[in-house]
Formats: sequence, structure tokens, C-alpha cells
Amino acid sequence: MDKTTFKPRMPLGRLDRDLLERMAQVVREYDIPVVRATAGQRLLLAGIQPGDWEAVAAALGGPEAACPHYVQACPGQPACSFGLADSLGLGAELETMLAGMDLPAKVKAGVSACPRSCGESLVRDLGLVGRSSGWSLYFGGNAGARPRVGDLLANKLSTQEALGLAGRVLAFYQAQGKPRERTARFVERMGLDAVREAVL
Ligand code: SF4
Repeated sequence: MDKTTFKPRMPLGRLDRDLLERMAQVVREYDIPVVRATAGQRLLLAGIQPGDWEAVAAALGGPEAACPHYVQACPGQPACSFGLADSLGLGAELETMLAGMDLPAKVKAGVSACPRSCGESLVRDLGLVGRSSGWSLYFGGNAGARPRVGDLLANKLSTQEALGLAGRVLAFYQAQGKPRERTARFVERMGLDAVREAVL
């Protein structure tokens, strides 16, 4: 674990007043030189001095608050006129599910309320896209050094069906994934048919 940085859990990029105040206090008290917004809608504290990390982590919810997984979601209905679904509602439930999971590697999830996909759903480990017929769920996307568009697992899902399928595919990945194997490489190794057979 890198003990010069800390990224507290911030569901869907939301920061309440209490966490904001605690972060400001920690940055001042431990003279942390860098605070940066990440692509995953979180705030990264960087340049923490050796020996300060445990105290910084404790002040911000403990080491478990630095969850490796995250969910990004577009604003969706009613903020965006293109929205076809409640991306923030589904994203919040997905974030709660992911926060407690011990998975082979970090999982990035993207939730978009329409096919324009502002939540970058197709290049995330787990992607949800809202359509007029319901949610589409994608798995195994990645935007990294070896980019991969996620595979469509199912269409026309209700919110509860989408969450259920997300839980099943994550459980399969949890059980069959190798340590540090991201979902893109996992799907390539297992084969899409095996993933579909296990979760659909
Ligand atoms: S994905 Fe669609 S609903 Fe979401 S912000 Fe983009 S255009 Fe709006």
C-alpha cells in the first residue's frame, strides 16, 4: 500500500460538510502539499509524510475508508434533459455494494442515464447504461494501457435486476479472478460464454 497518498471514500463524488472540514483540518495539521480531484470523482491527498499516514487515515475514517473501488455516475434525471433513468440512485446502491467487497483488483463502475454515456460506462469494469427499455449492463471494460470495451451481458433490466446481475458478476469475479487481475483480462481469460453461463 502506498503510504504517501490517501483517497477517502466519496460516494459518487459527494463530499459532505463533515468530511470536507475534516479533510481541510488534516491537510493543515499534517502539512499535506497536494490535494487533487481524480478522474474517479474523489479527492486525493498526496505527499503525506512517512509516519503520518496512520494518523491521516484515522482522522478520515480509518484505512478501510480508502476503498479501491468507485462508482462514477452522470447526473441523469432530472438534471439532464437526455436522462432516461435514475443514474445517481442506481450508482449510490452500486457504490454501497462495492464498498464492502474484497475483489481481486480495483473495480471502477460507470453509470450513465442514456446512451451518450457521460459516465464512461463502456470502458469501466462494470458499466450501466439507461435506455427507454431499461438498463443495459456491461462487464470487463477498461480505459487503461490496453483499452477494452465492456461486453454487454444483458438489456432491458429493471433497477433491481441490474443490481442483482451486478452482484452476481462481481461474486463470480471474486471467486474466479486471480489476484490483481482486472476484469478486462479476467473476461479474456475465462471467455465471455463462461461469464454469461455463470451469471445469467
Ligand atoms: S449520459 Fe445522458 S443523461 Fe447522463 S449526463 Fe450524459 S447526456 Fe445526460
